[in-house]
Amino acid sequence: MVEIRSVHKSFGSLEVLRGVDLSVRPGEVTVILGPSGSGKSTLLRTINHLEKVDQGWISVDGTLVGYRRDGNKLYELREREVLRQRTKIGFVFQNFNLFPHLTVVENIIEAPVSALRRPRKEAVDAAEKLLARVGLADKASAYPAQLSGGQQQRVAIARALALEPKLLLFDEPTSALDPELVGEVLDVIKDLAHGGTTMIVVTHEIGFAREVADTVVFMDEGRIVEQGPPADVLDHPSQERTRAFLSKVL
Ligand code: ADP
Ligand code: MG
Repeated sequence: MVEIRSVHKSFGSLEVLRGVDLSVRPGEVTVILGPSGSGKSTLLRTINHLEKVDQGWISVDGTLVGYRRDGNKLYELREREVLRQRTKIGFVFQNFNLFPHLTVVENIIEAPVSALRRPRKEAVDAAEKLLARVGLADKASAYPAQLSGGQQQRVAIARALALEPKLLLFDEPTSALDPELVGEVLDVIKDLAHGGTTMIVVTHEIGFAREVADTVVFMDEGRIVEQGPPADVLDHPSQERTRAFLSKVL
């Protein structure tokens, strides 16, 4: 579902991704761990084409992200095509990023109606089903400010699902939440994982990683230091840097 090959990315003189290779099979859950500043968000943003890579390439579901291949050459896609590609990838941010002036249901139907040209009635019906799935059937006409952080993040997940993405990316989805609200959001993500959604989740929630991940990836200084099943990476890390990190977060 996702192939990342030799990806490099710099901001000015700062090399943030220093040759990243990663494969995610359909239906797999990959959890990315690593210290702040190690390049986790940048990696997710390159997969969603919110950042362009400097070297290497990424493909999602067999399509090069942001590029078209012609023989050995890569050509950049036009903005329109990039936007169309992006509708196949759901992105859930740390800070929810809901539109504050729109109700919950309007937040969810915005992209299906404007980007995919779905009829409004059809989009609303689908949104209501998604709200039921994240346990918020009664909040359709509420505004984001009237919801708890955990509820807002569940709306953000429903909004990401409304585009029926092939791939869901989560960037520290529970880091901005009060501790008592973390569980309800993780439960929704677990539910999606068990339903076979392909996802890449950046999180510091080790319990979640242990329970849900097929593969745990540890990143440091722009590189993947080690990866493997949770039982290996979390309980028997082969690298000293992974051990040092885990001893701080566990
Ligand atoms: P992480 O998510 O692992 O904490 P990030 O990918 O957010 O790491 O950031 C990696 C490094 O890249 C950090 O040093 C950060 O300051 C820097 N960085 C991220 N985005 C930008 C940007 N748009 N411009 C300049 N520097 C950036
Ligand atoms: Mg980050």
